[in-house]
Amino acid sequence: MQTDNGDLVAALAFARREHGVLIGGEWQSPASRASIESRDPATGEAIGAVPAGGAADIDRAVRAASEAFPAWSTTSGGQRAKLMWSLADRIMANAGALGMLESLDNGMPLPVAGFAVMGAAESLRYSAGWAGKIGGETLNVSAPGHQAFTLREPVGVVGAIVPWNFPLAMTVAKLAQILAAGCTAVVKPSELTSFTALRLGELIRESGFPPGVVNIVTGFGGEAGQALVEHPGVAKIAFTGSTSTARKLIAGAAGNFKRLSLELGGKSPTVIFADADIQAAAEGAAMGVFMNSGQVCVAGSRVFVERSVFQPVVEAIAARARALRLGPGRAAGTDIGPLISSQHRERVLGYVEAGRREGGEILTGGRAKEGPGYFVEPTVFVKTERQHRIMREEIFGPVVAVVPFDDLESAVAMANDTDYGLSASVWTRDIGKALTAARRIQAGTVRINGGTGLDPAMPFGGFKQSGWGRENGREGVEEYTEIKSVTVRL
Ligand code: NAD
Repeated sequence: MQTDNGDLVAALAFARREHGVLIGGEWQSPASRASIESRDPATGEAIGAVPAGGAADIDRAVRAASEAFPAWSTTSGGQRAKLMWSLADRIMANAGALGMLESLDNGMPLPVAGFAVMGAAESLRYSAGWAGKIGGETLNVSAPGHQAFTLREPVGVVGAIVPWNFPLAMTVAKLAQILAAGCTAVVKPSELTSFTALRLGELIRESGFPPGVVNIVTGFGGEAGQALVEHPGVAKIAFTGSTSTARKLIAGAAGNFKRLSLELGGKSPTVIFADADIQAAAEGAAMGVFMNSGQVCVAGSRVFVERSVFQPVVEAIAARARALRLGPGRAAGTDIGPLISSQHRERVLGYVEAGRREGGEILTGGRAKEGPGYFVEPTVFVKTERQHRIMREEIFGPVVAVVPFDDLESAVAMANDTDYGLSASVWTRDIGKALTAARRIQAGTVRINGGTGLDPAMPFGGFKQSGWGRENGREGVEEYTEIKSVTVRL
């Protein structure tokens, strides 16, 4: 991705503009004049504001999405795919500027933002391939003299609620599957990072989507988000965020028994066997947790290393942590950026303190960086125990615990000793060991020797408290459909 100073000027100008909410294809004024200030996490300075949308805005947006649904759900797959490709092309034509806007708002390094922007375009292109190709099947029923088959129908209006850690990529990935299934959407971005969703709204309009197919309402989770979850006109909520917020959603969705897909938190294990490529495994383990300052749902925050190679591996991870350059996401040479907010930095430092208090030993890191911005040093703990908070709770920061194990049996038991089950990494040259671990670890994704964890073609989601349902792949599109059985007596 190419960015230049012009992109920074354009991103700042966009952030400072007066923003509306996208309803029925028009930028509208929100019902209230209240707004939410957005800060550059690298400096703490205010960079702009977005509307604090509320229940009235959500209601208008849901009505617009409902009105658009009959025509959109019967538009041919080819036509819907064409619009999705057009949006993907516009995203790529604006990749530099979008990446800069994301980096400014979220703090992520520009190369990470570039990767996320490309991933967003790719998810549209991938899911576009499913538009019009999701169907039912014929069934051999026991009743004699019958013809039976299933239909897969779009579920209706979908509320898409998105977190702040990969704002654009998560928004677009959800929309890609929603649009391919023939549903219409109301998007509620995170109150901490709404700018790229608003810019996306402009690109959606330029791409020629019919009014109301995608609506975007910024606002706080407890207000706009909650209103979307409770709205009787919404058939399904697609949520990515924390497990604690998901519990509120489950209660809020009960009114009309909304369908829910929940992509939640994790406490993902990395398991390194003694026969692995140790250098590659240590690098993979380090970047598996420090990438994006650990603000990644699949962050490998627990690393289990076979005892005979524990020392060299933990030293290599600590060396990598020390070498990482902290800085503003947009500065050349930055490896990891700031955390999203001062509150989140305090939360992460609270975990570091708890880890120390409970008996863990810090090999490197453990402090906030001096000066402006919400930076925390990459931190490596050893001597942690299974019951320590940093071994059990999602930290969502650059903090890893490295623990020795003795054999495959105990490695699998330790990996599974968590309420979560989102992702796992296994490093070994023994294919039998790798596949045994892959089968026995309870996680939605298992990555062997650095295999990719996210691809639009791969179903992604969690076991246990990491969520309900799957995103991506055919299964991801099918999440937005209802199955109907039809029988005919011959
Ligand atoms: P969060 O749960 O605080 O917020 C997520 C979204 O929910 C935001 O848009 C927020 O405004 C909204 N929200 C908050 N309260 C709400 C309510 N009562 N009703 C409706 N909406 C509400 O999460 P976050 O801090 O933005 O993101 C970090 C979390 O997201 C981490 O736990 C991380 O693991 C998880 N995450 C999961 C995945 C995944 O795919 N499994 C991916 C990225 C992040």
